[in-house]
Amino acid sequence: FIQVRDLHKDFKLGKEDIHILKGIDLDIEQGEMVALLGPSGSGKSTFLNVLGGLVPPTSGDIMIRDYRISDMTENELCLFRREHLGFIFQSYNLISTMTAMENVALALTFAGVKKEIRQQRAQEALEVVGLVDRMGHKPSELSGGQQQRVSIARALVNHPEIILADEPTGNLDSKTSADIMEMITRLNREEKQTFVIVTHDPDTTKYCTKVIHMCDGLIEAEVNQ
Ligand code: ATP
Ligand code: MG
Repeated sequence: FIQVRDLHKDFKLGKEDIHILKGIDLDIEQGEMVALLGPSGSGKSTFLNVLGGLVPPTSGDIMIRDYRISDMTENELCLFRREHLGFIFQSYNLISTMTAMENVALALTFAGVKKEIRQQRAQEALEVVGLVDRMGHKPSELSGGQQQRVSIARALVNHPEIILADEPTGNLDSKTSADIMEMITRLNREEKQTFVIVTHDPDTTKYCTKVIHMCDGLIEAEVNQ
């Protein structure tokens, strides 16, 4: 379903090239819940961003279904992301001037969903994350956990096949984290969505079917559970 072969990523820093991803090989089946663990700076966010076509790889192959992500143009990638992927970012990336509802509905606008049904679809997604009563609030009027839920609703609203989540429970208390992981598990079961979740939290990994340990730009261990 997802195949990664000998993936490398260098970043230019002044005149220097820094080698961040050093040859990643990985296979993920449809419907898996994958946890990605590793020390800070090991390249987890970089890997997730390259996997989702947000950052181009330096070399290597990424196949998602029949699509070779690593060969796509920026336009093709844009369409591919809108159709197949949902992102939950480490820092939420909500638009501060828009309400929760508008932030979620914006993802539908990008996906070309008709105006008449956007509001209803956005509201349904906010219901899933238990935030309908806050849908008129702007990010600054929401707690961290609530902002995280909005960003999750935004990632889910198009029912993407694959969701890439960077520390979705990183800033949440253990009760809220558990609620969110249970919601993710339910979606995974009911809609066969594939999740790749970067996390530091051992409680979060318990919900996953596969745990991948990254270290210094490489996959060190892969454990099915
Ligand atoms: P954390 O757990 O702290 O989020 P991480 O495993 O997600 O860490 P990355 O964000 O992938 O780590 O960063 C890996 C390395 O790549 C770091 O040393 C970082 O400085 C470097 N890096 C990331 N993005 C860039 C960039 N755009 N330009 C240069 N270096 C970068
Ligand atoms: Mg990170």
